[in-house]
Amino acid sequence: MTMNDPTMLADAAHWRARDLAVLWHPCTQMREHPETLPLLPISHGRGAWLYGMDGNRYLDAVSSWWTNLFGHGEPRIAAAIAEQAQRLEHVMFAGFSHQPAVQLAERLLALAPPGLARVFLADNGSAAVEVALKMSFHSFFNRGDTHRRKFIALHNGYHGETLGALAVGDLPLYRRIYAPLLIEPLFAPSPDAWLAEPGESAYHRAVRAADALAAMLAEHGATVCALILEPLVQCAGGMRMYHPEYLRRARTLCDQHGIHLIADEIAVGFGRTGTLFACEQAAITPDFLCLSKGLTGGFLPLSAVLTSAAVYEAFLDDSRDRAFLHSHSYTGNPIACAAALATLAIFHQEPVLERNRATAAAMARLAAPIGDHPNVAEVRQTGMILAFELCQSHSREALPTTQRTGLCAYRAALQRGVVLRPLGDVLYWMPPYCITDDDLNHLARVTASAIAASTRSCA
Ligand code: PMP
Repeated sequence: MTMNDPTMLADAAHWRARDLAVLWHPCTQMREHPETLPLLPISHGRGAWLYGMDGNRYLDAVSSWWTNLFGHGEPRIAAAIAEQAQRLEHVMFAGFSHQPAVQLAERLLALAPPGLARVFLADNGSAAVEVALKMSFHSFFNRGDTHRRKFIALHNGYHGETLGALAVGDLPLYRRIYAPLLIEPLFAPSPDAWLAEPGESAYHRAVRAADALAAMLAEHGATVCALILEPLVQCAGGMRMYHPEYLRRARTLCDQHGIHLIADEIAVGFGRTGTLFACEQAAITPDFLCLSKGLTGGFLPLSAVLTSAAVYEAFLDDSRDRAFLHSHSYTGNPIACAAALATLAIFHQEPVLERNRATAAAMARLAAPIGDHPNVAEVRQTGMILAFELCQSHSREALPTTQRTGLCAYRAALQRGVVLRPLGDVLYWMPPYCITDDDLNHLARVTASAIAASTRSCA
C-alpha cells in the first residue's frame, strides 16, 4: 500500500521535522512524536482521500474530526469561499451586517425543527456551547429567576474543551485535570444502549435513564437552567448510541420543570444520523440547537446557536446589562457563512439524505462480518456513524488500557492507507458522504486487518 519514492519521503521528513520543532498539536502527547505516532504532513485532499507528502494517500474515514461532509476540496464550496473572499472578507458583526450571514440564518431556521427563531453565530463548537449555557442562565436571570444556576449534563457526554464546555462534559481524559477550575453540573445517567442490562432493549434503557432524570429534576428542578445533551449519539464518548425515546421524555421533563433543553448537534447535525438533525427522530425542538463542524462542509470554523423567540425576548430591554454581550472578533465571518451557504445548497440540490441511506446500508453490510471477530463485542450504527466496540475476547469486558489497542489499530490502519482514529478502544466509521463503494470495500478490509493486527500484537 505504501509507496517509497525517496524524494517524497525526504520532503515529508523535512516538513515533519520543521513541524515538530515549532508546533504543538491538539489532543496529542507530543512525546509520542515522532516514534510512537507518525505525524503525517498532508499536501492536498480530494473527495474522501488525503494525499500525504510522503506520496501515499489516506482514506479519511473519520471526516477529519467529523467536519467534512462532501469531500475534501469540494469545488462548489471552494468556489463560494474564493468569491466571497474577494468581495468582503470580514467586518465586525456588532453594528454591521452582510448578505451571507442573513441568508445563512434564514436557511438554518427554515431547515431546523420548528419553533426556533433566532441565530447567534460563533466560530467553533465549544464557543457555541458556551453561548448556549450563558444565554440560558442569563435569560432566566433577566426574568428575575436568579436562583437557577445549575446545569444538568449526561454521563459520558462531551461538549468541547473551553472551561464552560468542558465543565458539562464527563470524559475524565479531558476533564479530570481541570476539575478544580470548573463549574459543577449535575450528571444524569446516560441513556446509552450499551449500558442496557442483559435482555433490556435500547428503548427500555432510554426509559430507565429518563426516569433517573425525572428523579433528579424532582429534587433539583427549581435550581436548574438547562439540560445539555448530544442527541442520539455520544460521539467523543465512544460513539455510544441511544433510543430517541430519551429525547422525547427529556423534552417533556424540561417543559414540566420550566428548564431549557440544549441540543448539542455539533457532531451529529447535517445528516450524520440519517436525518438532517438528530432531534427530528424524536420530533422535538430544543430551546437551543448548537451547530458547527459540518456546517461549512469541513472547510472553515463556524458555529451557530439557534434559539427561540422566548429566549431572545428575555434580553430585549433599555438596559445594556440585560443584553447578551458575548462576542468573538470573527463572529459571523462572511467567508465562513458563504461556505456554509454553499454546503446547505448541496443538501438542497442533491438527494443527500437518500443517498446516505444507501451508503449507510452498504456500511452495515460490510461491517457485519467484522463483528464476528472475537474482540468485537458490538457493531452499532446510527445512519452514517458506525462503531466497533473492542473488548476482551468473546466478552463485553474492556481491554486493559495498557494494551493501547486503539492506538495499535490506528497505526495499523494508517500503514494500510486509512485514517481510523479510535476513541479509546472504539473504532468507528464516520466518512464523508461522497465515499464510494470501492472506498468502503477498502475501508472494511483495512478495518478487519487493523483489528486483527492490534488485538494480536497488543494482546
Ligand atoms: N460538542 C460536540 C458534541 C463535539 O463533538 C465537539 C467536538 N468534537 C464539540 C462540541 C466542540 O467543538 P469544537 O472542537 O469545534 O470546539
